[in-house]
Amino acid sequence: MAEQIRGKGVIAGIAIGNIMMAGQNIDGYLAGYQPGNKDIENQKIKDAVQAVVSVLQTNIKTLQEKDMAEQAAILEAHRMLAQDPAMAENMAAKLETTGSAPHAILEAAKESAAIFEGMDDPYFRERATDIRDVGKRIAKYILGVKEPEIGDAPVILCGEEIEPSVIASLPTEKIAGVILGLGSTTSHAVIIAKARAIPTVVGLGDKIKEIPDGGQVIVDGERGDIVIRPDETQLADYREKIKKQDELKAYYAQLAPLPAITTDGVKTELMANIGSHNDVDAALTYGAEGVGLFRSEFVFMGSSSIPNEDDQFKAYKEAIEKCQGKLCVIRTMDIGGDKPLPYLNIPPEENPFLGYRAVRISLERKDLFLPQIKAILRAGVFGKAAIMIPMIINVSEFKAVRQIVEEAKLELSHEGKAYSDSVQLGIMVETPAAAVMTPVLAKYVDFFSIGTNDLVQYTLAVDRGNSSIAHLYNHFNPAVLTLIQRTATAAKEHGIWCGMCGEMASDPYAAVILMAMGLSELSMSAPSIPRVKEKLRSVSSTQAKEILADVMKLEDGDEIKTYLQKVLD
Ligand code: PEP
Ligand code: MG
Repeated sequence: MAEQIRGKGVIAGIAIGNIMMAGQNIDGYLAGYQPGNKDIENQKIKDAVQAVVSVLQTNIKTLQEKDMAEQAAILEAHRMLAQDPAMAENMAAKLETTGSAPHAILEAAKESAAIFEGMDDPYFRERATDIRDVGKRIAKYILGVKEPEIGDAPVILCGEEIEPSVIASLPTEKIAGVILGLGSTTSHAVIIAKARAIPTVVGLGDKIKEIPDGGQVIVDGERGDIVIRPDETQLADYREKIKKQDELKAYYAQLAPLPAITTDGVKTELMANIGSHNDVDAALTYGAEGVGLFRSEFVFMGSSSIPNEDDQFKAYKEAIEKCQGKLCVIRTMDIGGDKPLPYLNIPPEENPFLGYRAVRISLERKDLFLPQIKAILRAGVFGKAAIMIPMIINVSEFKAVRQIVEEAKLELSHEGKAYSDSVQLGIMVETPAAAVMTPVLAKYVDFFSIGTNDLVQYTLAVDRGNSSIAHLYNHFNPAVLTLIQRTATAAKEHGIWCGMCGEMASDPYAAVILMAMGLSELSMSAPSIPRVKEKLRSVSSTQAKEILADVMKLEDGDEIKTYLQKVLD
């Protein structure tokens, strides 16, 4: 009898296939393990690390050849973790107490993972999975446990928590869908699945136990439904949906080279939000016309100590070069809030989102900020770059930033290092204060990019990460729309460009009214580009302006959303 359970759909799409349980339990293997003497066990750790590194290197190369740069980067991070000298030291120390190579490896990984797990930031908490993943992989090598082997038919990978490396090492065509008991949108397993557009459902909790290994299921990544042992009628229904889905995919692929232009010729630049230079290639395949937000804090977060000017220069240069002459907007580090940086030793705060973060740190820590600016200016020589400052609340902050940029140029000149003089300098409008002050700020900056992820939370006093008030977090709230419109008008009056890099930009209904307000650029996670493009290509700018005029007369965010769906579907 068919049975249906529901989780959270995080990657849309339908998949039908047989379950392959991943993320195996190795307790039985561990219990039966017979360790040798200390030297033997020590050598086993070294050999296993080397073997795992070599497998990872092969996988990284394959992924790079297939232009799967983001996934290659995740495995590259695993390779670095496997070869981390601190980890090796910890494994050796644990060997002293446990006397067993696999136990020592797992304990060392568990200890490092626990540090990350205790952090407030979900991004860091998810990195704990990576560390455990690497540890388990090395231990599995010693224990002789094989990775899941997949036959000809693609499978639905299912597990409480699946190691990202398991997904990344399998060819895309072999994975029809992914089901996770735990998992969130920021887990690396989900990031990999997203880059491959694999239908994924997470957060099933205990219900995952109802899914039989090897049994047939249907995964609906849009609604979050899992149909266990589907009957013929259900299979026929879903096969029909898959057919429609494939037609849509082919249609989206055709859209990639086309501009986002209205029926009467108004063009919007659709750009990509990235966290690493490795994301650029994939973004371009979705039709991104450049990078509208490079979250540079990930360059800092991916390193165990402060990356110096040269390290940063390399990362920015690579991103800029990969943009092939298209604009690459690099946001200076947005540390603090939900993105702590352990090695900066910032004390815990009552309200981190309202605390010591972003430009507030940069202006106090010139030792960090000046090298970052110098690195971007130098990288600017290799294409078209812009510097974007997060969390600005007043003009004096921006003036202080401008002064540091001038100082950076002077230092570079003295040092005889080449830099670009045409790097634009703009700000994120992500605080209500900045949005209100845009008529003044516009006199000083080269551009505005509206960061709605924060602007919505600050304007509505709704914590962006609190699920119990998620229903109040609405980018169509008239207060938010009023601030966006004010920003767009101020930009227009001062002849500067205004874009958006918050998640709102990836909402096709929002895109229409944002374009009508005069935003010329929308930056989003790359897979969202085709949907937004399709909507923008389906309207005229006159029609969009009429819709905007109607929207601005409405008094409630939910009402606005319903209205837009009605007129634009
Ligand atoms: C934003 O606040 O909208 C934004 C793009 O920045 P982040 O999500 O990194 O805070
Ligand atoms: Mg922000």
